[in-house]
Amino acid sequence: MGSKLTSRSADYSKWYNELVVKADLAENSAVRGCMVIKPYGYAIWEMMQKELDRMFKETGHENAYFPLFVPKSLFEAEEKNAEGFAKECAVVTHYRLKADPENPGKLIVDPNAKLEEELVVRPTSEAIIWNTYKGWVQSYRDLPIKINQWANVVRWEMRTRLFLRTAEFLWQEGHTAHATKQEAVVESELMQQVYADFAQNFMAMPVIKGVKSESERFAGADDTYTIEALMQDGKALQAGTSHFLGQNFAKAFDVKYTSKEGRQEYVWSTSWGVSTRLMGGLIMTHSDDLGLVLPPKLAPIQVAIVPIYKTEEQLQAITDKVNIIADELKAKGISVKFDNRDTHKPGWKFAEYELKGVPVRIAIGARDLENGTLEIARRDTLEKQSVQQSEAVDVIEQLLKAIQENLWNRALEYRDNHITFVETFEEFKEIIENKGGFVAAHWDGTEATEEKIKELTKATIRCIPLEFKEEEGFCVFTGKPSGKRVLFAKAY
Ligand code: AMP
Repeated sequence: MGSKLTSRSADYSKWYNELVVKADLAENSAVRGCMVIKPYGYAIWEMMQKELDRMFKETGHENAYFPLFVPKSLFEAEEKNAEGFAKECAVVTHYRLKADPENPGKLIVDPNAKLEEELVVRPTSEAIIWNTYKGWVQSYRDLPIKINQWANVVRWEMRTRLFLRTAEFLWQEGHTAHATKQEAVVESELMQQVYADFAQNFMAMPVIKGVKSESERFAGADDTYTIEALMQDGKALQAGTSHFLGQNFAKAFDVKYTSKEGRQEYVWSTSWGVSTRLMGGLIMTHSDDLGLVLPPKLAPIQVAIVPIYKTEEQLQAITDKVNIIADELKAKGISVKFDNRDTHKPGWKFAEYELKGVPVRIAIGARDLENGTLEIARRDTLEKQSVQQSEAVDVIEQLLKAIQENLWNRALEYRDNHITFVETFEEFKEIIENKGGFVAAHWDGTEATEEKIKELTKATIRCIPLEFKEEEGFCVFTGKPSGKRVLFAKAY
């Protein structure tokens, strides 16, 4: 298990990197910017997937799968989208087999054989999907189409961090097609809400719902709805995005339908995605200097039980007792691991479950058997209590709920304490530099001002929050009139 973690106050970014590796979540690979997700990390991702997938299906979506490769000409059909992703695309240019010029009909291996048309490795799938939808949509009866795909995508990022920003990442991408603008707008807002609900109810991670400024918008979108979270170092994390794509892709791929009135109309569309970045958000929202802290609803192991024994007889007696309790917990849908390995000492196991963020740890020894007790420790507050074995199942069930709630409250309090309203650029700089978090300030609405502020402070507009009301004021930088505040922060 190795030595202690670097503390968050000493070096937050080092703490994060060490934690991801030591808690067995992921590691770097032989491919620059691409990670190996290890079984424990993947188990958490699978739990996220399971809940999100359920929520997508409950809101009327179906899963499907589209190809990894996009012919270059298709990729370039929607110009803004292609331009936005051009620098990040991996492109397949060569193929090792080609027709033998001497012997037509026979294939030979030629490392220099070029593809007739280059293939873009998808950085996002609008192009291949809208090219497909063209064949699926003729009349209003064919709409809406509400599809999600679970997939990997590639964006050739230069500065990568495990989970937060990788060159290849896992995600889901929803792609919907609608007859009216109104319906598509409702869909993009709905999916932003689904993401916000997931963040709150499962990740215990508070998020702010808002829309992106034009410069931060998804390439090819008319509007990007976002959920923005705040990490413990005061930096913001864009945790999920839902795009209203207008008729941009329908026009690029000529996807029209015949309306009830017999008119030819372009289709309206949305796309929305969350990625393995959520793992990074989960880790950084709750974890501490001892390691990972997981909300019970996303913990692959909710309860770890460690026996403390000297003799084989003691272990047998403890095992008999534990089996009964573990069965009762499992019957309530609580996941339990009885760690009876004799290769490690109890103290080592305690530290291991602490590092891995297991919400509840139980220790049970020979004296507990005599007294009919066991010891329960909670990961979030590190508190321990001795309880009667007969009450253990009820206590644990309540405790898991309490931990989920405590993590939410703790994160919410931190977040709310890190939204600072400022009126002057002096205050703005001071807060961004020293306190961190979100700064709520008036902005004149221009890209030039946004760019200048970014240059001077590294803070960007995270979003224009939905909850902020219209309010007369003056831009924090130029002093020009502004009708609403926006949220700035340094971001991952
Ligand atoms: P987008 O299609 O650009 O809106 O991206 C959808 C979501 O994927 C974003 O909201 C991010 O949370 C996430 N994402 C974008 N780029 C990366 C990356 N390089 N690594 C991990 N997640 C990413």
